[in-house]
Amino acid sequence: MPHIDFASITQGVPQCPVCGNTDREPSTAPAGTISPYTRTIAEMVELEPEELLRRFPLWVCKSCTAAWHDPWFTTDFAETFYGYVCGQHFYGWAGLANWLKRKPVTFVATRSAIWQLLRDNIPGSLTYAELNCPNAGLMFAEADSRGGDEIRKVGLERLRELTRVYAKTSIFDRPSAAASAMRAREVNAQSAGFLVERTLLTEDSPYCWRRSCVQAGVGCHAYAQDFLFDRMLTLKRAEETGRRFDLVGSFVTLDHMPDPISLLKRLLTVGKRVILEVHGPGWTDLQHFYAFGNGFADQLTQLGATYRDLTAVSRAHGVPGPTNGSRFFILSTEDDLSWVPGTAAG
Ligand SMILES: [Zn+2]
Repeated sequence: MPHIDFASITQGVPQCPVCGNTDREPSTAPAGTISPYTRTIAEMVELEPEELLRRFPLWVCKSCTAAWHDPWFTTDFAETFYGYVCGQHFYGWAGLANWLKRKPVTFVATRSAIWQLLRDNIPGSLTYAELNCPNAGLMFAEADSRGGDEIRKVGLERLRELTRVYAKTSIFDRPSAAASAMRAREVNAQSAGFLVERTLLTEDSPYCWRRSCVQAGVGCHAYAQDFLFDRMLTLKRAEETGRRFDLVGSFVTLDHMPDPISLLKRLLTVGKRVILEVHGPGWTDLQHFYAFGNGFADQLTQLGATYRDLTAVSRAHGVPGPTNGSRFFILSTEDDLSWVPGTAAG
């Protein structure tokens, strides 16, 4: 493999990627874990994984408390690396596989707990959109509520069929992919259920897996479009057409975007309410350029939004296993969220 110079794929980032402040101090958090991302890059630049991590020191913003790596990857390299070299959202695919197999895991259970809280407290149905990763949010719980086993069966058939069509057969074998999509739509009428008109919103980012998140030849967006979701729509197009949803979800995607606070404002415009899952404070590795800090809740207030912390709700699910340290919030600029039980309003 040709040698790639560390300096050629990295750049200095003196300012906080969340708030733009340059006043900072070194993080005292322990070094990040050696993930598949770390190993891949370490091999590319011919460094030991531990040495590679040392070259990406973590800083803490004195203004907003976010933690970030300086130096970090150039945008061009990040696009390549997260776009396709390691362009697979492992947790999303694992979540889908576990749900299809009915295997109880905390990753899926936290989302079901959030879905149940919404269902128990909001009458009627909600038009719903979710950002970027189709396998990390509320769609498994939603499908379960509409006849989980039948929908799972169709989901498994569809995954097998798409794997066969895209990974193993010729370009002339596409009618069966269309037939599989039509069957998936039949069991998922878009007006049926609690979360309806299910829309997968997309917004590009060099730090997110996006379109090329592929497993066994099947792209996650292609799989989700006719199955867990009714349609895909760019966030930009939703804004241009004045589209508004009763609820918008962003599950471990906001902290994979280059300008998260601006993006959050945009989500609050297209969504009457926004459900957020963000990674735990200060936690990063080579998959994550930055993490919001303990001051994240203050930033929500500064947006003019009312918010409630749903982290405790997300963890009250009874499925044994480690939590990933994520925090969950619901926020809104028009709903006072007084229906959320047992939490202090922000
Ligand atoms: Zn900051």
